[in-house]
Amino acid sequence: MKSIEIKEVTKLYGKQKALDNVTFDIGKGEIVGLLGPNGAGKSTLMKIITSFITPNTGTVLINGVDVLEDELSTRAVIGYLPENNPLYPEMYISEYLAFVLKMYKTSFNPKSRVDEMIDLTGLTPERHKKIGALSKGYRQRVGLAQALIHDPEILILDEPTSGLDPNQLVDIRKIITELGKEKTVILSTHIMQEVEAVCDRVVIFHKGKLVADDHTSNLWKVAGTGNYYEVEFKEEVKAALLSALPFVTNVSLQEKGSWLLEAKKGEDIREAVFNFATEKKLHILSLSQSEQSMEEVFRSLTRK
Ligand code: ADP
Ligand code: MG
Repeated sequence: MKSIEIKEVTKLYGKQKALDNVTFDIGKGEIVGLLGPNGAGKSTLMKIITSFITPNTGTVLINGVDVLEDELSTRAVIGYLPENNPLYPEMYISEYLAFVLKMYKTSFNPKSRVDEMIDLTGLTPERHKKIGALSKGYRQRVGLAQALIHDPEILILDEPTSGLDPNQLVDIRKIITELGKEKTVILSTHIMQEVEAVCDRVVIFHKGKLVADDHTSNLWKVAGTGNYYEVEFKEEVKAALLSALPFVTNVSLQEKGSWLLEAKKGEDIREAVFNFATEKKLHILSLSQSEQSMEEVFRSLTRK
């Protein structure tokens, strides 16, 4: 059963294409990560799904209903945490949540529903504070609580963990994973590990285009071409010698003087590098495995 259908959506800001003919579906109960660097079009797509902005061409269906034809009924089934969550700093947490709840037609008892959301999102220790007095992590929890208050079946979370410290990040991811057991969730992020930790499926965007759509377990295979090692020798070394090492697929000399070696996925070349150094009487100043940067990942994806 399809929860969200995105069909040939294009969005222009002036001459700039923020989204370029994007098509994909999301099934009921899926947790999907929209992954992409800044400016990829993630927030724009979320605003279109929630009908806050309209696309130039294309349609979005929620449970089979066009969001532009029936905004109210589609918004009622969606909970949305916007990018710069516009909270009211002068309001108390429970006051704000009660205010949000009032905008929806529900049969919830306001007080008990607000308490339930405060408990669910871990806001209890801070509940008597005004929103403006909360740390970023707690404000993000308020954002989640307001997105959940009307018990929507679909959650759309725009960079829900951005700006959080590592502990808060773990907490929020846990809450999202828990929610994902019952709801359809779309979250956006520029962090691959976040997709890996939380999502079943990853849809990758670059410059407004959908460039990959796969199960999360294939994320590194989809994104990466190999694994990387950074090695610095005391002496000058010829690139051709390094290229000849087993499983090395690419070598480049970096500005700082160290070599970046790309190796075949799954092969650890460190021992071979040590043996090579010994054999050639070279001195290794440093050797480390390095993560492929997000930018490199996107560049390799868009080259295809
Ligand atoms: P992401 O959320 O992936 O960082 P956005 O959807 O925010 O990407 O932005 C996609 C592109 O559209 C960016 O190049 C951005 O500068 C541009 N953009 C977004 N919103 C506007 C706007 N209101 N007016 C003009 N350009 C915009
Ligand atoms: Mg964004």
